[in-house]
Amino acid sequence: MTQPRPTPPISVLMYHQVGKFKDPKTHRSSYCEVDRFHAQMALLKFAGYQVISLEEAYSALFANVALPRRSVVLSFDDGYENFADDALPILAEFGYPSVLFAVSGLLGQPAKWLAGEREKPPLLSASRLRELRSAKVEIGSHTISHPRLSRLPPEQAWREIADSKSELEQVLGEPVKFFAYPYGDYNPDVRDAVERAGYQAALTCSRGLANTAPNAFEIPRKAISYGDSLIGFFWKLAVKNQRKDRYE
Ligand SMILES: [Zn+2]
Repeated sequence: MTQPRPTPPISVLMYHQVGKFKDPKTHRSSYCEVDRFHAQMALLKFAGYQVISLEEAYSALFANVALPRRSVVLSFDDGYENFADDALPILAEFGYPSVLFAVSGLLGQPAKWLAGEREKPPLLSASRLRELRSAKVEIGSHTISHPRLSRLPPEQAWREIADSKSELEQVLGEPVKFFAYPYGDYNPDVRDAVERAGYQAALTCSRGLANTAPNAFEIPRKAISYGDSLIGFFWKLAVKNQRKDRYE
């Protein structure tokens, strides 16, 4: 596996749900208020960040394609309907690309893996996912059922990784190149399975600049949380660059 190359800093930001929420008590890093999201997107522009696709980040990090300035990738896990309803209009306003990681076995269904939440938010259907592709949204895989991959028997983990890729490819009619580990949970075997299944790169929940990735299948991200003020957001973006591994 190749090491990332020196390039201007790239932060991969991690979002889950964007919308209007009553001050959530738990899983706060899974929510972002839509007004705050708008302010964050405006700040990226104002502060001179270039918002690039994950493909462009991959090329800069691993294929030696020059990147002119510090850049950001916007990633959204799980494929909630509120991505299309609330986040996408704002992304379109700024012309930003993004990557959305869908759970292939639960398209059009509630996010049933979420424990302890009374209402399970709905996930985008196959036809809505297809519609997103014309809006600069790359679709990646987030497994079939959102399990903790390191805890599954290897054959089952393999099915979650490889079959979700082919299922989404069937839905979209094009290759699915990127993967995100549910809960950021993986181990070396899981990581190797993701590579063997034919993905180009994978995103973790370890914190840090993408430039600190040990390889293309362990790219760190920066989680944006419900409680992040605009200053907090900027701090994560500009200062919190050191790699900090997170295994749950
Ligand atoms: Zn997830």
